[in-house]
Amino acid sequence: MIRETVASALDSGLKDSPERETPLDRVTAFAGASRLGTLLWRLKYANDPRAFKPASLLIGKKLPRNLHGSMRITIAQRALKEWCMPMCETCNGAKEVMRGDKMVECKTCNGTGKRRHTEVDRMLDGVTPRMAPLLGAAFQVIREHDVDTAVVTLQRLDRCS
Ligand SMILES: [Zn+2]
Repeated sequence: MIRETVASALDSGLKDSPERETPLDRVTAFAGASRLGTLLWRLKYANDPRAFKPASLLIGKKLPRNLHGSMRITIAQRALKEWCMPMCETCNGAKEVMRGDKMVECKTCNGTGKRRHTEVDRMLDGVTPRMAPLLGAAFQVIREHDVDTAVVTLQRLDRCS
């Protein structure tokens, strides 16, 4: 059953719908993924922007309670944006760009392929440098749920093979 479900999910391009159960829901539910883990996968791997708001609300709930609710959401949204866009915007992660007829190191990312999220970028979203530790906490929540979803999914798939 899991093979058919995964094949169906892949055939559908991991498309998702908030109105009805989809193969993606069945794969993640079968794997025992958390609600946040499922939303993160919908957002990043199925390119479903509808998962952004509920995922940011759940991440915000896991940040320190002494913060105002809107500040927790602001931090969670910025962390989600950065997590979803890890590649350099100039070379798209290739680390090199064409200059004339040669490939040269990308100067935007200094050849790392990674997007550099500046303080200005963050401040435009309302996240000040003083909030950096809280942004780190939000990244930790995202990483834990992303990894947990991957681990439980792979464990279930291994048992079925
Ligand atoms: Zn680059």
